[in-house]
Amino acid sequence: MNIKAKYLTKVYNNGTYALDGFTAEIKSGEFVAVLGASGCGKTTLLRLFAGLEKPTAGELYFDGVLFKDLPLKQRDTAVVFQEYVLYPKMTVWENAAVALERYGLTREEEEKRVYEALREFGLIKFRNQLPRVLSGGQQQRVALARIMAYEPDVILLDEPFSALDMFLKDRLQQELTEMLSDYRGIVILVSHSRDEIYRFSEDLIIMDRGSVVTFGNT
Ligand code: ADP
Repeated sequence: MNIKAKYLTKVYNNGTYALDGFTAEIKSGEFVAVLGASGCGKTTLLRLFAGLEKPTAGELYFDGVLFKDLPLKQRDTAVVFQEYVLYPKMTVWENAAVALERYGLTREEEEKRVYEALREFGLIKFRNQLPRVLSGGQQQRVALARIMAYEPDVILLDEPFSALDMFLKDRLQQELTEMLSDYRGIVILVSHSRDEIYRFSEDLIIMDRGSVVTFGNT
C-alpha cells in the first residue's frame, strides 16, 4: 500500500483553508506521526484519508489509483478518533466485530479475531456489556480492538489518547505499541504532543497552516 497526497487542499464553506497544498508519500510498514499546532489541519487530513471529506483541490492516490475512484470496499482505512465512537446499543463483542462483516470470513475465523483483539486489550470480561458501563479508557480500547480485529491497510489515529488521564494514557500507549509491532500496513498518528510522537514513531510530518513544513526522521 502506498498513499500519495499531491497538493491536497481543503477549503471549508466558511472560507477556511484547512489544508493548503499538502504533499507527502507514505508506504506500507511506515508509522508516520503528524505533529502540528491546533487548527493546522491534522484532523481534516485524516478525514480526507478516510473518505469522510472531499478535497477542494489536489489529488489523493491509494496505490496509484485516485481515492475518489476507489470502490468503497477498497478504501481499506480505519479511524480511531479522540472521542470514543461506539454503537451504544451493541455489546462490546458486537462493537469489536462490526467492521469484519464485509470481509466474508467464516464464523470461526471472525470469532477468533474478535476474541484475540478483545483479549489483547483486556476486554474479554466485558464482552456482553454495553459500552455505557465502561470507562472512557475501556471504550477507547474497544475502538482499538475493533481495528486490530480486522487489520485494515491503513490505520488513522486522531489523538486517540487525549481524553484519557495520564496513567491510562501511558498504559494504552504501551498496549497499542505492542499490538502494532507486527502490523504491516500504514499507521498515521495525529497528535499535538511531542512526547507521544517520540514514543511511537520515527517518521514525522510537521504541519503548519495546512501544509507540510518538514518530513523526515524524528
Ligand atoms: P487540527 O486537527 O490540526 O486542530 P482541523 O483540521 O481540525 O485542525 O482544522 C483546521 C482548520 O479548519 C481550523 O481553522 C478549523 O477551525 C477549521 N475547520 C475544521 N473543520 C471545519 C468545518 N467543518 N467547517 C469550517 N471550518 C472547519
